[in-house]
Parts: sequence; C-alpha cells; structure tokens
Amino acid sequence: MGLAAADIQRIEDLLKEKLNFARDLHAGDQFSVLVNDQYVEGEATGSSQILGVAIKTGRSEISAFQYSDGSYYDAKGHSLVRAFQRYPLAKQPRMSSRFNAYRKHPITGRVSPHNGTDFSVPIGTKVIAPGDGIVSLVTDHQFAGKYIVVEHGGKYRTRYLHLSKALVRKGQRVTRGQVIALSGNTGRSTGPHLHYEFHINGKPVDPLKADIPMSSKLANQDLRAFTNLVNSRQAMMNLG
Ligand SMILES: [Zn+2]
Repeated sequence: MGLAAADIQRIEDLLKEKLNFARDLHAGDQFSVLVNDQYVEGEATGSSQILGVAIKTGRSEISAFQYSDGSYYDAKGHSLVRAFQRYPLAKQPRMSSRFNAYRKHPITGRVSPHNGTDFSVPIGTKVIAPGDGIVSLVTDHQFAGKYIVVEHGGKYRTRYLHLSKALVRKGQRVTRGQVIALSGNTGRSTGPHLHYEFHINGKPVDPLKADIPMSSKLANQDLRAFTNLVNSRQAMMNLG
C-alpha cells in the first residue's frame, strides 16, 4: 500500500510481542498506519516516522502510538513489550497458600510441591489474563478441576486451576486484562480458591517473587497528553 520496506520492518518489530505476522493475519483483517514523511523544500528526504499503527485481526485490535518520549505505547498507554501484571485478578487478592517446593499436601498429608499460589476468592470471581497470550488448553481434570493454560510467547506459561467456568477456548488469543474464566472449587480442592501457576521455560516459579517482566504504563501526568495525541491520530486514521 505504498509503505516503505523499512516502515514495514519497523511495524513488524514494534508489534512482535503482540502479533506474529507470518501466522496471525488472515484475509479480511484491516490495518491503518499513520506516517510522517519529512520534506525539505518540497523534496521528500526519505526520512519518515511512524506515528500510529492499528491492526484489526479477528476480534482483537492491536495498536501502537509514538509518544513524545520516542517510545511506542498501546492506546491505553501501556508499553508494547511482553509484560505481565503480578496477579491474574482485578484486585490484590488474599493469598491462602504460597508457592512452596516442600509443602505438605492439605488433603493427602504427603510432601508434594505446591507449584502455584492459591488466592482465596469466592466462586465466580473474574480471572484475568496477566499478559498477552494464546490459550493452549481448556479442560477438566480429576484433581485440577476445570482448568486453563495460556502460552505467552515461547518462554512463559500460566495455569489456572479449580475454575467454575472457562470463558475462552483453545487457540484463542487473549490480551492482558481480559477476563478468561470464573474461579471455582472444582477438582480436589479444600474450598473456593484460584490456584495460579507461572512457568518460565517449563519450570514453575513463584509468581509473586520471580523475575517476571512487569507491565509499565505511562505516568498519570503523561497519560492525559498521550490520550489527546491518540485521539487526534485515531481521527486521522479513521479509527474511533
Ligand atoms: Zn494450589
């Protein structure tokens, strides 16, 4: 559509944590790019800057806007790099059992590692994806109950056990903050709670302590200016 190869490369690079351009795009998807070309006395210098990108694929919309600090953020002011929030719940929950490699199991009494963190939440509490990813499993298990697994790129994986209801299906793309399930008390469970696991390279880690890239957001004083900028650029891109 007249974009320079360098611009296409830049866009692919900007969104690489959000979108796999070889795999995720389908016929009918839409995109919009806002480019600022530099001219000197009517002559294009070949220097250009991408001010905004929006891609609509299926039901998800991915966007990036450049702020005055030179960095790109999504429309809500979150950084674009792969990042997580600490809890898969909207509010900081009460913890009932921590990650513990040597825990005595509360039901069997045997020492068996607790590979996750239990959050004490009433049945039906919204469980949210702590980062962008793709659902790799939705199933029912004798002990784990109804559970979901989400892959976040090749390195990170999260698991959610004892759910009452899954709100996603296998293969579905999810974004950070999206409600993916309702908590429950299914499987071998001593009471309503969410068992949450975070794996790095296939190994479970303590999600509350591990060195996990945390999501960063523009500070409040920048957010207002950024939101104004996004609104005017979206108007230029015929988005709304
Ligand atoms: Zn647990």
